[in-house]
Amino acid sequence: MNESIARQLLGLLSFTLAGAAVGFYTSNSLLIGALSGSIIWSTFSAILNAKLVRWIDLNLNSPDPKLPFEQGRIVRSIAEYRNKTEAEYDEIHADMDQFQAATSAMKDAIVIIDNQDTIEWWNNAAEEILELTIEQKHKKVKQVFADPFFLDFYSQSSDIDSFKADSSDHKRVLEYRVESFGDNEKVLIVRDISESEKVAQMRHTFLANASHELRTPITVIHGYLETLQEQELPKPIQKAIQSMQSQSRRMADLISDLLTLSRLETSSENKSRKPIFIREMLKGIAEEAVDVSGPKQHQISLKMDEGFDILGNEGEVRSALSNLVFNAVRYTPPKGVIDITLETLDNGVLFSVTDNGVGIPAEHIPRITERFYRVDEGRSRDSGGTGLGLAIVKHVLVRHNAKLGVTSKAGEGSRFNVTFPESRVVKI
Ligand code: ADP
Repeated sequence: MNESIARQLLGLLSFTLAGAAVGFYTSNSLLIGALSGSIIWSTFSAILNAKLVRWIDLNLNSPDPKLPFEQGRIVRSIAEYRNKTEAEYDEIHADMDQFQAATSAMKDAIVIIDNQDTIEWWNNAAEEILELTIEQKHKKVKQVFADPFFLDFYSQSSDIDSFKADSSDHKRVLEYRVESFGDNEKVLIVRDISESEKVAQMRHTFLANASHELRTPITVIHGYLETLQEQELPKPIQKAIQSMQSQSRRMADLISDLLTLSRLETSSENKSRKPIFIREMLKGIAEEAVDVSGPKQHQISLKMDEGFDILGNEGEVRSALSNLVFNAVRYTPPKGVIDITLETLDNGVLFSVTDNGVGIPAEHIPRITERFYRVDEGRSRDSGGTGLGLAIVKHVLVRHNAKLGVTSKAGEGSRFNVTFPESRVVKI
């Protein structure tokens, strides 16, 4: 039986018994006494219940009524629950205030979006940067952000890290990021990167101009050195000319890679969706790799699935994939094994180059796509490297929404993977 009912019954029983005893001793009537006892208890209980109900109905915040018996116990339980809820509410409120104060102080726009892609909340900076207005609250993302490229990015936000675009008045450059949290809710963070873009643009322009200006003198020097090499000259001078020639070739390669990089860096995505005859391209690269290997006689194999092509810029993709294949040749000792594969995945296409060469120690892997980052300076230079190959690969892949993966073990070999997403694959 419920404890509360038991206590009520006990009260009724006690009053009834007390009434019966009083009735018996005063008027010798057990029944009348018992009846009177139970009526007194019921009336008293009804008054207490009424006070309790009025307190609950009217204002739980008024002072707690001092009630005896079971009603008193109910008042204490309700008051305890109310105090706990109030404390929790105050705590949530304080957290909210703190969150609002922190996000208001931020220069980045922050927009909270629920799992139905409805805009729920934003900070002050969002009103300034994105020009959001109160009418846009509870609207869908696609109603508020019209740019189809942004919506593309938003819907597949796990694939690409960030999206850059001009502000609506074209006065600033904005960088958008989307992070998921909770029950597939999202937070959109938008940063004004106009200043850093301007600096980057100046750096690119300087690099492109400097490389361009250097190209002509180097070509001239190289030409004269070739002519000189054909002359009958004393041995030490011939040796010096040979060395000057190899250095000037290195400089020419460096300038050519720098120009390629600066061209790639000027825009974030290659919008070209032309089919690339990828199998023909890879056959050509594999043949060139055999030439590069020359007397080193690497065993180079090529395995490819059929029925698809890659969409993008042929020159860029060729440069990225050939860089990976030629690196495998350069960093694998003579007679080493190099496997090139191209396979279809459920959601894209995977290109891979696996070698059993010198490998890369784990601590270097995160940095090898940085410009001029070399695991072994001497080895890279000896093999004719500019230190820019993987930086070019990275940029080309970003521009094709593709991802680079590297697994390697020092002394055992390396595997470089490139995953092209479905959007960059066409069935044939
Ligand atoms: P580099 O012109 O020096 O080869 P890259 O950017 O192409 O420049 O590569 C960066 C560094 O990554 C190289 O210096 C080399 O140490 C390492 N690397 C690249 N590919 C391989 C590979 N297949 N095996 C071992 N090391 C590699």
